[in-house]
Amino acid sequence: MTEIEITKLREECGVFGIYGHPEASKLTYLGLYALQHRGQESCGIVASDGVELRLERKMGHVSEAFDQPALDRLRGASSIGHVRYSTAGEVSINEAQPFLVTCQHGQIAVCHNGNLPFAREERLRLEREGAIFSSTSDTEVVLHGVARSRASVREAIPEVLRETEGAFSMLFLTPNELIAIRDSRGFRPLALGRLGDAWVVASETCAFDLIDAQYVRDVEPGEMIVIDRDGLRSSHPLPSQPHSMCLFEHVYFARPDSLVYGRSINESRHKMGRRLAVEQPADADIVVPVPDSGVAASIGYAAESGLSFRFGLVRNHYVGRTFIEPRQSIRSFGVRIKLNPVRDLINGKRIVLIDDSIVRGTTSKKIVQMVREAGAKEIHVRISCPPTISPCYYGVDTPNKSDLIAANKSVEEIRKFIEADSLGYLSLEGMIAASGVSPDASCVACWNGRYPTRITREAETYWEREHESVTAES
Ligand code: AMP
Repeated sequence: MTEIEITKLREECGVFGIYGHPEASKLTYLGLYALQHRGQESCGIVASDGVELRLERKMGHVSEAFDQPALDRLRGASSIGHVRYSTAGEVSINEAQPFLVTCQHGQIAVCHNGNLPFAREERLRLEREGAIFSSTSDTEVVLHGVARSRASVREAIPEVLRETEGAFSMLFLTPNELIAIRDSRGFRPLALGRLGDAWVVASETCAFDLIDAQYVRDVEPGEMIVIDRDGLRSSHPLPSQPHSMCLFEHVYFARPDSLVYGRSINESRHKMGRRLAVEQPADADIVVPVPDSGVAASIGYAAESGLSFRFGLVRNHYVGRTFIEPRQSIRSFGVRIKLNPVRDLINGKRIVLIDDSIVRGTTSKKIVQMVREAGAKEIHVRISCPPTISPCYYGVDTPNKSDLIAANKSVEEIRKFIEADSLGYLSLEGMIAASGVSPDASCVACWNGRYPTRITREAETYWEREHESVTAES
């Protein structure tokens, strides 16, 4: 039995929290279910009954990880949960979040979406002083800081995070309070909602829809929200910074039915597709999305260009992470297990093939080959974001620069590599305008290499080492 990395790149994480509902852990389970696309490696839930925190962490998908007895054990009216795909650290149950510790303040649980590129240095310092860690995760470093502080948990959290550069949308739970905090630049999303008298927080609003909660607003960059029996209190304890909200959320990560940074993902992608049609027209017969990531942009492209939108590739949604590889090598196997062409739609046609991004280029190459074999006369690949040229240090798992095809090849060289008849990317300006997020408030470092925070050589080297193990699709 061989394990093949189907989506060879690893995603980021999703967080969900609720305070003040008798079925807190069950609603957290449902919230995580809706956020499953943000991480499929492991998941976990912590719940509080007002006295004690209880934790369940499992590898795998939310639906398989939790059963009724597990959720029954997670008693209480407040809860936080996490779905994970590592952006730093290893793959094991020890890395699964939330983390739960006991210290001078009593029990504290934490879960984190983001990445702390400088936590490594702090961790080494703490280790030298004799600190013990149970995982390789950067998030534990923050817990150590909070545990060491003489201040109360709600004072210690901003005290520690004030010193921590990086991306964090974090939830903390103690027996009697839920604390949500977002870094001053707002790299990763975090939304606040209401369900009757209960408060909810989640990475994306699609988690609110599933439990019938109403979106209230985003947790603002630099804002800390404390929810306890006295209600919700907001403060801005972190130093103010220009905002750097990740636009890759709008291009790829978030679900199209979510609001992220208060804006509809579907609308962003539709507009990206429309602009792509204007900037990169193609003489073709039909527009075909690479499902699911290319669908919304393709509908926009088709609407703008007047070409008809056809589902020329069908996606199998039930692909597990582990499967038996046939002994005899089958060409395009890795991609075909997930995507299969609809021959009668494709045969003899000139196709505009739309995907959200090209990272290493291996997926696009295989898809183009597959569409060609299904009889396409011409294949014009269109990408609804600019060429990805730099790794992300803020919570999106991208490979090393050396593995990013656009960091090393021109658009024409990439076209040749993927064997398309033409290739066109959306411009940076076009993508930003389509997202509706102000250019001054967005992080586009993966497309222009300009990082909003300092990135030391040490952090870069650590990142490169960590990412050496990410295997490319076979
Ligand atoms: P490739 O060019 O072969 O590396 O694959 C690019 C495809 O992977 C794109 O079509 C995206 O849909 C998807 N993708 C892009 N970034 C990520 C990421 N960080 N994690 C998982 N999948 C991604």
